Amino acid sequence: MGQEKKINPLDVAMKQVDIAAERLKLDPGIVEKIRHTQRELTVHFPAKMDDGSIKIFTGYRVQHNMVRGPAKGGIRYHPDVDLDEVKALAMWMTWKTSVANIPFGGAKGGVQCNPKKMSLRELENMTRRFVYEIAMFIGPDQDIPAPDVYTNPQVMAWIMDTYSILKGYSVPGVVTGKPLELGGSLGRHEATGKGVFITAQEAAKHLKIPLKGARVVVQGCGNVGGISAQYFEKAGAKVIAISDSKEGIYNPKGLNTSSVLECKTKYYCLLAPGTKHGDKITNEELLELDCDILVPAALENQITLKNAAQIKAKMIVEGANGPTTPEADDIIYDRGIFIVPDILANAGGVTVSYFEWVQNLQELLWSEEEISERLTRILKKSFGEVLHLSQKEKVGMRTAALMLGIGRVAEATRLRGIYP
Ligand code: NAD
Repeated sequence: MGQEKKINPLDVAMKQVDIAAERLKLDPGIVEKIRHTQRELTVHFPAKMDDGSIKIFTGYRVQHNMVRGPAKGGIRYHPDVDLDEVKALAMWMTWKTSVANIPFGGAKGGVQCNPKKMSLRELENMTRRFVYEIAMFIGPDQDIPAPDVYTNPQVMAWIMDTYSILKGYSVPGVVTGKPLELGGSLGRHEATGKGVFITAQEAAKHLKIPLKGARVVVQGCGNVGGISAQYFEKAGAKVIAISDSKEGIYNPKGLNTSSVLECKTKYYCLLAPGTKHGDKITNEELLELDCDILVPAALENQITLKNAAQIKAKMIVEGANGPTTPEADDIIYDRGIFIVPDILANAGGVTVSYFEWVQNLQELLWSEEEISERLTRILKKSFGEVLHLSQKEKVGMRTAALMLGIGRVAEATRLRGIYP
């Protein structure tokens, strides 16, 4: 067992395609097509900073596949964003929309920046100029961005506004995850975290683990981690640990997630002076805690060769994209730990993004109940299909999800044919 060096998410994504394609016995030409991203746009663009200086940023928009519909995927603001990461994330979006069976392809975008060190005005300047640079590439029929790490409804509002100004009329369908006031959908903000909870609930049912009293560990406390933690707590589970990029907090009796998240919002840290929700713990220790459900909901490559043998959870529900490497996957599978893979577990976000886009195009509004009911139905169906395939093919849930997602894209490609 070799030691993993710096893990490139694109190598991980490619390896996953190869595993699924081999089992599906796909035409090598089609495999070659889906191993490649269709279009990649890299832009270097200026933005004005508060001190009057001009800074050059590098951003990307990658469209992996549009065979089943317009490309769809979030925009990430993070110092480590690079082209390979965005390509991998775009590829995962293609499989995810396919697993959920919604009529989209896959895309992703990102800007290399440190949003924690930027003012709101600087973020707005950077976002608007980035949108200007990629405007010819995106659009409601072409490619529809959404939030991802360190982007939020406000950023989506700037995207919608800039694109609309360039077009000369309002185009709410160009982006999802918008504020409600601008054509955002009810239920979009909580959709990914809720989806993590729904798929975990299905997995717990399958494994006969009662959710009431189950010990849950969540890495990351942003949109996905924070919201899923609250759903678990509401269902009677005990969230025993949660973290942010700096540290984690652990309480074997269960945390009050609302007050932990309130502390994070108020003081920008989980353990502010004078608060005592639990004990400090590192992100590495958190992943290895004895628990029933582990939810990695931060970044890629968290469960690797280094720690896979030490994971004690009964199931892992991947809120983040690509948190487990293929080598770690094999260990996790051999150890009998049940995985709800990212392209299924976090598909709730893109599913409600699809609802938002449909509402924008049709200029109508759905109720929260309608959205919740449709989301639950789609995710339960997808979970059932992946589980069925995993049992039929005697493979893990990740391979089954990839087989389902990639199989649908391959079939759509075959039906459309290769032009000319
Ligand atoms: P977010 O910006 O709302 O939150 C990110 C969280 O990760 C924060 O709590 C941050 O403190 C934590 N974090 C950052 N670096 C970390 C590190 N090195 N170690 C531990 N924690 C760290 O982002 P999000 O939208 O919640 O996205 C989290 C993950 O979920 C990403 O992998 C993203 O691609 C995936 N995802 C998000 C959505 C969505 O709708 N937002 C949908 C599908 C998948």
